Amino acid sequence: MELRVRFDRNLYNFHPHEKTTTFFASTCITSNGRFYFSFVSILENAYLTSFRISHHETARQPGSLFNSPDERYNWVEKIKGGFLLHIQRSESLYQEALDVIVGGVNSPSRSFRAVGNGTPIFMKKAQGAYFWDEDGNRYVDYLAAFGPIILGHAHPAVTSAIVEAAANGVLYGTPTEKEIRFAQMLREAIPSMEQIRFVNSGTEAVMTTIRLARAYTGRDKILKFAGCYHGHSDLVLVAAGSGPSTLGIPDSAGIPSSIAREVITVPYNDIQAFEEAIRHWGDQIAGVLVEPLVGNFGIVPPAPDFLEQVNKLAHQAGALVIYDEVITAFRFHYGGIQTLFNIEPDLTALGKIIGGGLPIGAYGGKREIMDKVAPMGPMYQAGTMAGNPLSISAGTACLQTLSHPGVYERLDQMGKTLSKEILSLADQYGINITLNRMGGAFTVYFTGEPVTDYQGAQSADGELFAQFFRHMLAEGVYLAPSKYEAWFLTTAHSDEDIQFTIRAVKRSFKKMKPTKQTGKTK
Ligand SMILES: *Cc1c(COP(=O)(O)O)cnc(C)c1O
Repeated sequence: MELRVRFDRNLYNFHPHEKTTTFFASTCITSNGRFYFSFVSILENAYLTSFRISHHETARQPGSLFNSPDERYNWVEKIKGGFLLHIQRSESLYQEALDVIVGGVNSPSRSFRAVGNGTPIFMKKAQGAYFWDEDGNRYVDYLAAFGPIILGHAHPAVTSAIVEAAANGVLYGTPTEKEIRFAQMLREAIPSMEQIRFVNSGTEAVMTTIRLARAYTGRDKILKFAGCYHGHSDLVLVAAGSGPSTLGIPDSAGIPSSIAREVITVPYNDIQAFEEAIRHWGDQIAGVLVEPLVGNFGIVPPAPDFLEQVNKLAHQAGALVIYDEVITAFRFHYGGIQTLFNIEPDLTALGKIIGGGLPIGAYGGKREIMDKVAPMGPMYQAGTMAGNPLSISAGTACLQTLSHPGVYERLDQMGKTLSKEILSLADQYGINITLNRMGGAFTVYFTGEPVTDYQGAQSADGELFAQFFRHMLAEGVYLAPSKYEAWFLTTAHSDEDIQFTIRAVKRSFKKMKPTKQTGKTK
């Protein structure tokens, strides 16, 4: 019997020997991060009889795929070590997607670029804490759609709010009472947002706060912190984090250098660098844009007094302080980081959770500043879909559910259990990690060093993360496909899901090469 196997675009022929064990794997990556298997059936004693790369020359002479028995052993161990996932349908969909959708994905962070490339998993259905992919595999979901799905998928309260709203028309182009009630809810939770305007995405919300800060101060420059992600508008894509950093694009193509010149970037949590920048450019800075707790190069809390100093120095220079709470608002408690830490910015941008999974954004702040917004003032901003009944209804239902007692305590408790176990397993299996957690959100960095800024997050081992990610995927746990993202707990996760995940982490760590002395030998 001869077995023909396609590895990525290469065709391999295998010959099974005696003592065969069959392993199936799909879309695999070896530890060097390069080797891909679209569909593999490995026979332990198989050897390669031929090796062809597309339609070109034979790359190696027929014979063993491996140069030595050791090499073969290691390789087979790697295959045995995990990645036992059937995703044939995802793979064929991905090929179709690549043809018609640029890169096969509608947002670059959905691709598997940051975890060694290959087929992203196509999901078919999501319910509660689970995803099911097109091949029928189930995953416990820690992506939560990059943040918004804090109640889990298809939460009944959100679903019925959407259905009910849809029956009454999805878009009016007129004001509605629902928008007032929702804005009141937001202001009650985040009082610095004295006046609010709804938009359709976090990107739009942040972009508009910048325009507003410029309109209000009559200045042009914006100061931001390295690695923070503020959406994809021109100004904030200068040395941005999350998606772009993952892709290794320091700033996007297509952004005029004249715009990049208006942006000053300093390291997060580095108040000295901030002070220097303020000293240098203070009188030209319209706004200081900050994630009051970073969610976009992993979870990184502000150092003690950092936010207070930012406020003080920015205001002394006559600049506005803009909190981008798109990912943090309603994530850790019923409100923002600003209400949790009791510190007020001038303007706030919201998104993600406040839409309950539907597209939304909102910005707001002091009435005196918001008075500059059209039709009250000279700063123009508009939106056909803004404040649409579906998003407003879903958001209202989501926040109402989040306001129930015990919700955030439960998220925090699950986050604590899971992160404690991950740390102890890492110690047991000798994997160097740093875990930053805030409530029900945390990031596992594959580094032994503390992570307090973007540079720290960058230094985490992406290769190890990719391995871990693949192992977890094969175990039925879906993590965000990037070392810069967080795990998000949802109210739908059960104690069994947490235990299931802990077992998956244990098996994954076990398959990885130790990077430090194990706890056992200490
Ligand atoms: C996700 C995010 C954005 C962008 O929001 P979109 O809805 O994706 O446009 C902006 N800022 C922060 C902090 C975010 O996490």
